[in-house]
Amino acid sequence: MKVLNRFHKFGFGIVFGFLIGFLWSLIYSYEGTSFFHETLVKKEVLPQVYVITPTYRRQEQLADLTRLGYTLKHVPNLLWLLIEDSDSLNPLVADLLKKINVPFVHLNGKVLSILIPNSLSFSNISARIPEEYQKKKGKPRGVSNRNLGLEWIKKNATDGAFYFADDDNTYDPELFEEIRKTVNVSMFPVGVCTPYQVSSPIVRDGKIIGFYDGWKAGRKFPVDMAGFAVGGKFLLSRPNATMSFVMGKEEEDFLRSLDPFEISDIELLASNCTKILVWHTRTQKNAEAPAIDVKYNDTNLVELRKILVLVWHTQTVKTEKSKQIDHEKYGNTNLEQLAKLIV
Ligand code: UDP
Ligand code: MN
Repeated sequence: MKVLNRFHKFGFGIVFGFLIGFLWSLIYSYEGTSFFHETLVKKEVLPQVYVITPTYRRQEQLADLTRLGYTLKHVPNLLWLLIEDSDSLNPLVADLLKKINVPFVHLNGKVLSILIPNSLSFSNISARIPEEYQKKKGKPRGVSNRNLGLEWIKKNATDGAFYFADDDNTYDPELFEEIRKTVNVSMFPVGVCTPYQVSSPIVRDGKIIGFYDGWKAGRKFPVDMAGFAVGGKFLLSRPNATMSFVMGKEEEDFLRSLDPFEISDIELLASNCTKILVWHTRTQKNAEAPAIDVKYNDTNLVELRKILVLVWHTQTVKTEKSKQIDHEKYGNTNLEQLAKLIV
């Protein structure tokens, strides 16, 4: 009997100990670092950010995706839709996604139709650029993949916000915390590699008075692809939302397809558009790697060639001389702050 009592006390001690431990971790979770905080609290509170990235096979691709993937890894509650402009998924990209281990969906048109219930109705939407554009010099890049991403969001997302993030741009993880706040359509400055150096709504007294962009071309929304985000619910209320294949009008036609949507509806992020949290950078394109000489047939180069297919080599391209922001014209606007960021 005594032994049993002692056992009971012992058992009670263990249970009590566990309870204390559990409570402690819950409390600790409010300090923002524990397992509970990461997996339970944050998940419930933080709206989901969907990142739609169009990508295609080229020698710089794995380098670009490595940089982007590890950036996204800093962001909680994010789903990365990586959509290949190809007829088949590249296993090297699939391996990289698994390695980086950011929650992802890896798609092209074909996989989508098999994996996602009810998606058969758009099984013939391919992420591959339509044939008529494939050989064109100035072809609309990444449109078919972004449209497939939009279809995925329409079928699968109920709230949160999504963003078109090209694979070769540079993102501050803070950008995604801003994007998370998007209800309808939000906008923010983009550092661009042109003499203007920045593309942004112009804000005076908290209101948009125009757009600062090197290439206006009569657009109603002269913004960069990296300069806006859209709410999930908002997208669901705009079933006609789509990106057109008109080169140079991709952003414009997409934003117009969100009708009814006016400039006055735009939600301003990045401290009223005074911060640059994303840059439209470009990775220099390189010629294809030459064949490896047979004299290397007994070396590691043979293996490397198999894995990489093409040589990796990245270099930031130098841009032209800056255009200074006209202080007289843009006095009292956010451009005064943005001007400080320009070289
Ligand atoms: N892209 C694509 N297929 C192509 C060319 C580009 O999917 O044939 C993707 C590319 O990976 C990038 C986006 O579309 O994420 C924009 O392309 P790019 O960076 O070449 O355009 P730029 O930034 O120079 O306008
Ligand atoms: Mn690019």
